[in-house]
Amino acid sequence: MKIKILTIFPSFYNDFLSTSIIKRAISKKLISIEIIDIRKYSLDKNKRTDDTPIGGGAGLIMSIEPIYRALKDNSNKKSHIVLLSPSGKKYKQDDATRLSKEKEIVLICGHYEGIDSRIEKYIDEEISIGDYILTGGEIPSLVLSDSIIRLVDGVISPSSIVEESFNSSLLEYPQYTYPRVFKGDKIPDILFCGNHQVIDKYHHKMALITTYIKRPDLIDYSSLSKEDKKIIDLLKEGKDIPLSAEEEKAIQSGKKFIK
Ligand code: SAM
Repeated sequence: MKIKILTIFPSFYNDFLSTSIIKRAISKKLISIEIIDIRKYSLDKNKRTDDTPIGGGAGLIMSIEPIYRALKDNSNKKSHIVLLSPSGKKYKQDDATRLSKEKEIVLICGHYEGIDSRIEKYIDEEISIGDYILTGGEIPSLVLSDSIIRLVDGVISPSSIVEESFNSSLLEYPQYTYPRVFKGDKIPDILFCGNHQVIDKYHHKMALITTYIKRPDLIDYSSLSKEDKKIIDLLKEGKDIPLSAEEEKAIQSGKKFIK
């Protein structure tokens, strides 16, 4: 997978490229990232890449010519070209999954008041990372790159990806690590029981509860099991969710595993 980023601020990416998982993915040749300086493609003697808005208005507009020339030099028929823009489709995990299957992605970062609208003729899609305005497309390009790269085969372990929020219609269940007790707050005993079948079911239950509390809009009610529906009904009535008999039994027999 190749990602090319067209920007007028190439140095912005230095830390991203030389840190942690991204650095390792590049050195293992699982991905390559190329930062392309749009300024190099300016025909202006001072390497200007912007001009005033035609018809009036505030600020500066990025000119089409240098971006067109940068695209021509750095893409081919197989490249998937994305314009980062607040007017684009709102970015979701599904888009990261879809884009992680592309061979080559070209991300175009705007700045100032945005890019001459004639750019739309040369792109495959327009993506927004949310309903707010940033000063430039550089942060959105990092958001897309990071979320896509971690889905590329070999970059991180497949089990980490499968259990993440948004991969089903549920958020991830609460996770813990040592110490077992922090300021009186205990990790649930069930997680020490050693019975992975019971723990998997408990994780699912906690994912459902977490999603109901934090993002009820994500829950697909038509796909819930009978047991899940019972849990949702209890939550709607404001009741606590009791431990099941199976969970109680697993806790008792797992006491020996508790450090
Ligand atoms: N005048 C534009 C408007 O009202 O939609 C905003 C331009 S913004 C200041 C400059 C550049 O930042 C955009 O061209 C785009 O590349 C990037 N940008 C800003 N917010 C963004 C967002 N939410 N998602 C994706 N890109 C964004």
